[in-house]
Amino acid sequence: SVLTRHHTMKIAILGSGYVGIVTGIGFAELGHEIVFIDVDERKVEMLNSSKPPIYERGLEELMKKNRGKYRATTDYREALESSELTFICVGTPSKGDGSIDLKYAESASKEIGKALKNNDNFHVVVVKSTVVPGTTEDKIKPIIEKESGKKAFEDFGLAMNPEFLREGNAVYDFFNPDRIVIGVKDERTKSVLEELYKPFDCPKLITEIKTAEMIKYASNAFLATKISFANEIGNICKKLRIDVYKVFEGVGLDHRINPSFFRAGIGFGGSCFPKDVRALIRKSEELGENPKILKAVMEVNERQPLKMIELLKKHIPNLRGKKIGVLGLAFKPDTDDVRESRAIPIVKALLEEGAEIIAYDPKAIENFRKFFPQVEYANSAEDVITKSDAVLIVTEWKEFEELDYSGKIVIDGRRVEKAMKEAKIYKGVCW
Ligand code: NAD
Repeated sequence: SVLTRHHTMKIAILGSGYVGIVTGIGFAELGHEIVFIDVDERKVEMLNSSKPPIYERGLEELMKKNRGKYRATTDYREALESSELTFICVGTPSKGDGSIDLKYAESASKEIGKALKNNDNFHVVVVKSTVVPGTTEDKIKPIIEKESGKKAFEDFGLAMNPEFLREGNAVYDFFNPDRIVIGVKDERTKSVLEELYKPFDCPKLITEIKTAEMIKYASNAFLATKISFANEIGNICKKLRIDVYKVFEGVGLDHRINPSFFRAGIGFGGSCFPKDVRALIRKSEELGENPKILKAVMEVNERQPLKMIELLKKHIPNLRGKKIGVLGLAFKPDTDDVRESRAIPIVKALLEEGAEIIAYDPKAIENFRKFFPQVEYANSAEDVITKSDAVLIVTEWKEFEELDYSGKIVIDGRRVEKAMKEAKIYKGVCW
């Protein structure tokens, strides 16, 4: 939790997506002055009129409350000149081979370098985007140095501060982090960041820059492993008619094993786990390592959603012309984000089988429609239930616990208790 703030800092947030906006608005709430920078003018305009460009619980209220403490612009130079510290929060997506694409981070670094050229203040640049170990010092530092003509750790500060927020809980997580990791080299930058994070009452770990980069990857890889592990045990349990959720309740009681996150189901999606595990695999291969566990984590994850189709076909062998309901399109509840959602391979497989799809999600329809315009989108979850021959539960939105599943064939990828109790035919993907 957060204690009271100390002194006001002028902070630039470069890249106003899920991470950037939550970080910026969070620091505004703590009393700092924020300027958001983005290349996307739509986001800049929305931020300037206090409208959240993304859905995140509690964000809109916090934006309204702190109106006046932040503004947004596309102009790097002006924004950086008027600030002491810049967080780089641009996306670092996967390339075709799994490695991370640094094009946004590189163009951002270039702009930072240019803006720092005629700036005589000691400006601190903090990489918050997830980048593979070595990136900050080997890729970002030389670009800023070249463009600015200045020396890192002397003329300007440079640090790596990985972000651990969970989409859907991001505002809560900003104020209540489990830990804060700060990778730094020079004392001046270290003290600026210690001051900034002073109000947070949680363990703070100061490390080398590349160690901080690795902590983020190791954390996400471990969480992804927990899910694939739960799924593998779940698949075995299903054959043995053992309830995997009971099993992990028992497993989690061991104090060496934290009980959370053993979520057996159809696997993980989102903009982070798949991308980060792949990037770590690529990086280790580049180093001559063969990361067998990481590869297996991804393999289990890719197979798992297709189990829903296998189960469905046991009850409806020919899906051609059948109307299949899909409940949930977001990669997890409480977000509108569909990046790497398990709904994508499921909808693809259903379309290949010739099924007609009727889908619903409380927040993610607009984002999903861009990829699948041919799908019919319902106005409500009830509509999906009444109009379909069978229902697949893909995301565990809370409101799906309140539907009437009686008389339906339900294939459940997320363990919705109400469906378990009521459906005429109910199949859990690994329970
Ligand atoms: P996002 O795609 O939502 O946002 C990135 C933003 O950067 C976009 O608004 C884009 O327009 C902007 N941008 C791109 N190039 C730019 C440039 N040159 N100058 C200014 N703005 C630019 O991404 P995100 O989900 O916020 O993730 C950002 C980073 O944080 C990634 O490295 C990600 O791995 C990491 N991360 C994400 C999460 C999460 O839950 N989303 C959690 C922890 C870490």
